Amino acid sequence: MARYSIAVDVSRCDGCGSCWIACKDEYCLNDHLPTSVQTPMMGQTWLTLKEIEQGENWKIKMDYIPVMCQHCENPKCAEGAPEGAVYKREDGIVIIDPVKAKGCKDLVDKCPYGVIYWNEQAQVAQKCTMCAHMLDNGEKTTRCVESCPTQAIFFGDLDDPNSPISKFIAERGGSDQFGPYRPEEGTKPRILYKELPQVFAAGEVLLADKKNDCCEGAKVVIKNVATGETRETATDFFGDFEFKFLTKGAEYEITCSYEGYKPQSVRMVLDRAKDLGQVVLEKA
Ligand code: SF4
Ligand code: SF4
Repeated sequence: MARYSIAVDVSRCDGCGSCWIACKDEYCLNDHLPTSVQTPMMGQTWLTLKEIEQGENWKIKMDYIPVMCQHCENPKCAEGAPEGAVYKREDGIVIIDPVKAKGCKDLVDKCPYGVIYWNEQAQVAQKCTMCAHMLDNGEKTTRCVESCPTQAIFFGDLDDPNSPISKFIAERGGSDQFGPYRPEEGTKPRILYKELPQVFAAGEVLLADKKNDCCEGAKVVIKNVATGETRETATDFFGDFEFKFLTKGAEYEITCSYEGYKPQSVRMVLDRAKDLGQVVLEKA
């Protein structure tokens, strides 16, 4: 039996919305029994793009995270639901049965990810089915995945090394590089994400004796004060540097150096993404 999953490379998503429009097109006013009944014209997007804006001054980043039902190994939506109302298929897809779950409005509040919607007309709670009706008809992928122009999301069987999702994950450094959205929920989601946004630190290095010219090629080292872990980078043509995927709340020391100039260090607690601004190096 296949082990279906969807993997997302967040760094490739530009927030175009093609995925959720395709999803809407597939389910709006279309019945796909036994896995879903038609969704209303307004008010339901089974896939939403969470917008995460971080940074300050000139160092601003925008990330988009496609979030749909996470098809959890431990689905909270199934807890306490009537017999057969919510079930997990052998391939891992979690389905809300549109007949057996009729009237179960409380399902909407059970999902910690907020991806279940109430259909007032049909009196049923609804969510992403991982396009189960298409897969059951022999299709090889889902509507959202086939519509993505940047190839940020892939679908397939995790147990088949030749499936698109397995190749996608292997090309991006393997399964260690992917993890769940909001792991703290403990639901063991089947949807996997790479490069979920974390806090970053950025800045710009200038040389004082060169009328504050941008300093390309300065060495910049960041150290996690608690763990001692260090990372190194060099400033670009504009004197800019950036460290991504840092730990929120941790204290860091950043040291900028350039041959012939006095190094400068700054310490800070990263309670959010930060722009250090201009670091001006004086002649040694
Ligand atoms: S993401 Fe929510 S709706 Fe989907 S299986 Fe998990 S708990 Fe259920
Ligand atoms: S897998 Fe299908 S149902 Fe789920 S979000 Fe994508 S298009 Fe919608």
